[in-house]
Amino acid sequence: MGTLSVDRVKGRHMSDETMTVTIRDRSAESAWGSGPAKPATRKATISALCPVTNCGQRRGEPRGLNQCEDGAYYWVQVWQNPCGHVDMYNAVVEEARQRDGLGAVRVN
Ligand SMILES: [Zn+2]
Repeated sequence: MGTLSVDRVKGRHMSDETMTVTIRDRSAESAWGSGPAKPATRKATISALCPVTNCGQRRGEPRGLNQCEDGAYYWVQVWQNPCGHVDMYNAVVEEARQRDGLGAVRVN
């Protein structure tokens, strides 16, 4: 399955730099209790920089992680930020949605 490669686009400003990661998109999955878990993943484009105000340091290098939930396996990418700020998963999903122009979607 996936690779660890990261697509980076260098813009004129640091804030234009993005990276592409594979994340789990729970909103694309069937509702809780409606059947067996079928984890949905997708590629998402997010900023390559920490979103914390007045930080802006580079996010950590993504690495692949095999996960298992209710017997269903899936592969996503996770990263640890060198600056020490922890990216909240829901916030990353939301950031990707806004960049994709899909608008805000409720995340449970
Ligand atoms: Zn930070």
